[in-house]
Formats: sequence, structure tokens, C-alpha cells
Amino acid sequence: MEEFKKQLSFSLKEKKVIERLDVPHDIFLPLMFSIKFGGDWSLRFDSTKVMAIKEKITKFDDKKMIGYTLEIMFLFYNPVLLNQEGTVHRLEKCGNKKEREIVKRPYKVTIDSEYALKASLNPMTKKILLEKVNGPFEFSGSSAYGISHEMEHLLDNEINGESIFEFEYELNNGDI
Ligand SMILES: [Zn+2]
Repeated sequence: MEEFKKQLSFSLKEKKVIERLDVPHDIFLPLMFSIKFGGDWSLRFDSTKVMAIKEKITKFDDKKMIGYTLEIMFLFYNPVLLNQEGTVHRLEKCGNKKEREIVKRPYKVTIDSEYALKASLNPMTKKILLEKVNGPFEFSGSSAYGISHEMEHLLDNEINGESIFEFEYELNNGDI
């Protein structure tokens, strides 16, 4: 019962915040998913495209031996890819597929969007700070891979990778 009350109060506050931000409820959905379930999310309906991309930064005090992992999530409404640089071969697990796939992602991406929101979740203070941010936005490394993955969903729906079964085992003494 206590847990249910907390859930209800959380949802009500979430609703109020969305109203104050003056954005349609649907646009906020991928961000809600990232907050509740983790990971990156994208949604496409009618001519609307939205995606939420998650970054993590651990802050650790070496003297006090205490820290926290700050989660920064970006919500992009109708994102457009402006530039991408470099090629990184990697394995990715898409929520829609059973096995991981071998894909190529850019190392750096620059995107812009009609509307962008940044959410910072601090598990120590238990606060979710929301701020409207303006592009263009540059990302590299794991956020760039996440953006490229979600953009692929928004444009083509399916991730086009090579099967994990393309891999071959090797023994370092060459016996197999
Ligand atoms: Zn996916």
C-alpha cells in the first residue's frame, strides 16, 4: 500500500511537471521510460519522432570513499542528424531482438531537434532536475552509439546488423 501511494504521488508530480513544461504528454514518454527502466528509448507516431538518450557519470570522493552515479538523460523531439564522424565496430543488443548483433556506429554525432530537455537524476539526493536545452548537440562514444541506434529505429524501424553467429572461436595455440 505504501509503495502504491508513492507510485501515485510520483505519477501526479510527473504530470504536473509535464503541464508546466508545456509539452504534449506523448513527447515525454521516452524520457519516462529511461527514468523508470533505464536505457535509451525512441517512439514514432504520425509525424512525431522522440528519443531519450542516457549518459552516466560517477562522482566519487576518494577521501570520504563515497560517491554516486549521476544519470543524464536527453529528450529530443523530432531529432535530425547534422553530422557523424568515424566508424566504430561493436556489438549491440536491441530490445526487439533475441541475440546481439554486430553493427557499425559513428564515434561522434551532431544532432539538433525542435525541442530538447535534459534530465539529471541524482540517486543520492533523489532529485530529477529538468532543464530545457538548445542545440546543436555533440556527442561521442556511448551516447553517440545510442543516438545512432535510436535514429535508425526512428528512420527504418529495424536495426540492420550482422548476426552474432558470424563470430568464429579461436584458440591461441591454433589447435582448432
Ligand atoms: Zn533497438
